[in-house]
Amino acid sequence: MNTNRLSSSWSRLAPDELRARQLRRLRDYLTQQVVPFSAHYRELFAQSGLDPASIRSFEDFAKLPFSSKRSLLDPEEGTPRTRDFVLVPDEATLARRPSTILGALRYGRSGMKDRLAREYRPILLTSTTGRSAEPVPFLYTQHDLDLLAVTGRRMMEICDSRADFRHFNLFPFAPHLAFWQAHYAGLGFNTFTLSTGGGKTMGTEGNVRLLGKLKPDALIGMPTFVYHLLSVAVEQGLDIPNLRRIVLGGEKVPDGMRRKLRALCSELGSGRVEVMATYGFTEAKMAWPECPARVSDEPTGYHLSPDLAFIEIIDPDTGVVLGDGKPGEIVFTPLDSRGSVVLRYRTGDLISGGLVHEACPACGRSVPRLLGNISRVSNVRRMQIGKIKGTLVNFNDLEHILDDLDAVATWQIELSKRNHDPLESDEIIVHVARSGRSSREEVTRLIEKRFLEATEIRPNRIEFHEAETLREMQGVGRLLKEEKIVDRRELASTSDGESLTPVPTS
Ligand SMILES: [Zn+2]
Repeated sequence: MNTNRLSSSWSRLAPDELRARQLRRLRDYLTQQVVPFSAHYRELFAQSGLDPASIRSFEDFAKLPFSSKRSLLDPEEGTPRTRDFVLVPDEATLARRPSTILGALRYGRSGMKDRLAREYRPILLTSTTGRSAEPVPFLYTQHDLDLLAVTGRRMMEICDSRADFRHFNLFPFAPHLAFWQAHYAGLGFNTFTLSTGGGKTMGTEGNVRLLGKLKPDALIGMPTFVYHLLSVAVEQGLDIPNLRRIVLGGEKVPDGMRRKLRALCSELGSGRVEVMATYGFTEAKMAWPECPARVSDEPTGYHLSPDLAFIEIIDPDTGVVLGDGKPGEIVFTPLDSRGSVVLRYRTGDLISGGLVHEACPACGRSVPRLLGNISRVSNVRRMQIGKIKGTLVNFNDLEHILDDLDAVATWQIELSKRNHDPLESDEIIVHVARSGRSSREEVTRLIEKRFLEATEIRPNRIEFHEAETLREMQGVGRLLKEEKIVDRRELASTSDGESLTPVPTS
């Protein structure tokens, strides 16, 4: 058994004690690090008349205004205000601190200087992946990379990996959290991890060859790419008897995808394979895993690291903080990060089952968990359908419907304007690659029926493609996030054409 810092100190606490510890840690972190050293938050606290030392409850903390993607950009130029969010220590302040003085006695002046450089000097950069918005860089110091190894090791432990497993990291080589989190998971857990770089670097062929040769025990990657890889492995009649774990990130993982992956694994001669999802985002600089679902096939929720992050769930319309188990938008605050730091950060991600504090029924850890499906606030779009103006359509629901259909291998939804005329009504085209033996007519009927049930709208067209063509269209292995919903309406119109009215999906 590996030693587990989380389980020894934080994962057996009663919810009240856990919250009390989080609050103390938050207050120390704000007082010692963020407010003195972050240009943006120093000003925001001053403007709000909030003294971090006087924070006695999470309600006090909720007086701090939210941050969001928009806060990270200059309002006029639209360029990232990266430096304003980085903790830049003031030497005079540091020199006065008892910890610095004691450190200098213990490690010598130059030793202490090195330690401070490891804590505060940015040495690694990841960035957001939005194609429409300006990418925003997030900086890591050595202190942050140490934490990335801690959250990585926890990911391995919670996913019940073994040190003697062979792990494949299939995320693309990129300045992106997913790749680095998986890489540091291998280092933090001290286990063999082969990073293939995904499809971009060695192609599907190269990846399949390595699968056949090294016969890994665990795969870590994006659902669409892992699915693609295993499908090709099945086509080639490969045997991967050792495969026990698939850990997914970068996209949401619907139940249908888990089922399809398990089916592929059984064709590859694997035994029981646990398929688990992780949730993370650039601004968090960490990701959180599910544990294996032992009690039922229900996903166990994302197991948070309560000593490193404080999560709030809010009503996306009013910003009011909601109680446990209530669906809403995920808001993130780090508790120990250096480098780039955001507080009360609105992720734009909705969680259907909210945040819960009771112990996990599968593994018994009492860390807080995010339960249910994650979807994007911005996937709720206003559509002009026929003569009806401005119908709100929740594309999160449609995604789940398509992913859950066993007759559908992969898909893409395209939104466009009829005849490419900006004044015309909107069109929904569903592009589909079939799986199994269902006919085109059967699949068409099935999709139309499910669309109507979920949204009371019908797609204008359903177009069938070969799996390979559709993968090209989605950018599998080429883009960092596969394009599942493509909005081409703005190409036809003169304005940006997109209404992002946030509404909760519960
Ligand atoms: Zn668990």
